[in-house]
Amino acid sequence: MKVIVNEIFYSLSGEGVSHGVPTVFVRLAGCSLRCGMDGTRKLWCDTGYALSEKAGSEMSMEEILAKVESFSKTPTQILLTGGEPLEGEKKFFCAEFTKMVYLKRHNSNFAFTRVETNGKEDIQDLKHMVFSIDYKLPGSGMESLMNADNFHFIKTRNNPLDEVKFVVRDRADFDRSLEVIEEFGLNQNLIFSSVYHDLKPSLLADWLKEKNIPGARFSIQLHKYLWGEERGV
Ligand code: SF4
Repeated sequence: MKVIVNEIFYSLSGEGVSHGVPTVFVRLAGCSLRCGMDGTRKLWCDTGYALSEKAGSEMSMEEILAKVESFSKTPTQILLTGGEPLEGEKKFFCAEFTKMVYLKRHNSNFAFTRVETNGKEDIQDLKHMVFSIDYKLPGSGMESLMNADNFHFIKTRNNPLDEVKFVVRDRADFDRSLEVIEEFGLNQNLIFSSVYHDLKPSLLADWLKEKNIPGARFSIQLHKYLWGEERGV
């Protein structure tokens, strides 16, 4: 079984509950969403280079794991990202890959692979993953594609390692996030970040102080502050 891999690199996790943790990033090619594109507004996706399904080279599960393990002798966090790693046939591949990782590492801190997913793909039957799931707010132009069952599932599963991410473009987005949190009863690991270049992070920080939402935390994209807008860092 093979999948198209855009890049694999070793760095620090830049966002969310695993912020700052050494992590191997496995970026799969392809995503059908186009976040930020709304009439005259531009794509805001950081990984436009990975949106095509063909943007990379074919690799097997064993080749990916060998590459992951080449970076460190001790097990590190693995982040499956994209593109969208759970779209189409990639979902089956990721389910098998994360099972293989789990069987190999079940005694380590990183037995469960972290998966960044866009909120559209169904996550409910995936056992060996922890999720960084986006809820796409109106400013992304993608909110109508959100799968409500995913967020009920996250609430019910109550895994302290899962997180829900809100990328906020403006105050209307922030206000909508409050409604979403209430609708699904979300109350842990609610990660807020601002759209780079569109919203001043300090403004979002002020809104979070104003509302003091249980379970919410501000996140800044660490890698951009350490290394700028470079790829593979
Ligand atoms: S879902 Fe993620 S990868 Fe796809 S366009 Fe949006 S930000 Fe980019």
